[in-house]
Amino acid sequence: MSEGRSQSRIPNNDPQQDRIYCAQSLALGGSRPDLPNEGAARSVVAAYVGSLGLADVAIEFRAAPTRPRTLSAEYDSESRVITLDPPPVHELLIAHEMAHVATPTPDNPHGPEFARTFLDLVDRNVRLIHLADELRVCLLVFRVKIDPGPGRWSAPLAGLDRPRLQSLENASDTLAQIEMFLRLSFARSMSPDSDCTKLLSQFWGK
Ligand SMILES: [Zn+2]
Repeated sequence: MSEGRSQSRIPNNDPQQDRIYCAQSLALGGSRPDLPNEGAARSVVAAYVGSLGLADVAIEFRAAPTRPRTLSAEYDSESRVITLDPPPVHELLIAHEMAHVATPTPDNPHGPEFARTFLDLVDRNVRLIHLADELRVCLLVFRVKIDPGPGRWSAPLAGLDRPRLQSLENASDTLAQIEMFLRLSFARSMSPDSDCTKLLSQFWGK
């Protein structure tokens, strides 16, 4: 669609999109996709729809992979269709798309409300809670604005421990420590000339 190539484009109505993609990708790191086939992905979507009390959404699979596996999902809010690359699929990507379903904010699709819902859906999912604090730290380091909540789904499910780092969301003075932690992970997992690395250095300087 656009003539521009390789430059990071940040649409005016979606200023947090790139940051959230980078944070999500970094949080997943080299972890293996956990949903092995279409049936597993479909039942996760159905479970979200049921447990959140949302109107049904359809799920479709592309014939071939399109993007890195950490970023290969989309949601069309008009048709209510989630599109995924062929399995295996990371469940975190489905949580991201379900956060769109649960937070219809077309004027700012990855805005603070979306970020709140995304984190809350991860915090209350027994299969994803091991990623909750990593995702939280990655969102903070990419300076994603997160609605302080509580959001509609903020309470963790009974029996799940609260993620340990929840308090960091309101503690900006701890960001320097997080930065050190992230720089280490980042150096291990991302190429120094990637768009995400450039985005991070814009925020944090040299
Ligand atoms: Zn999204």
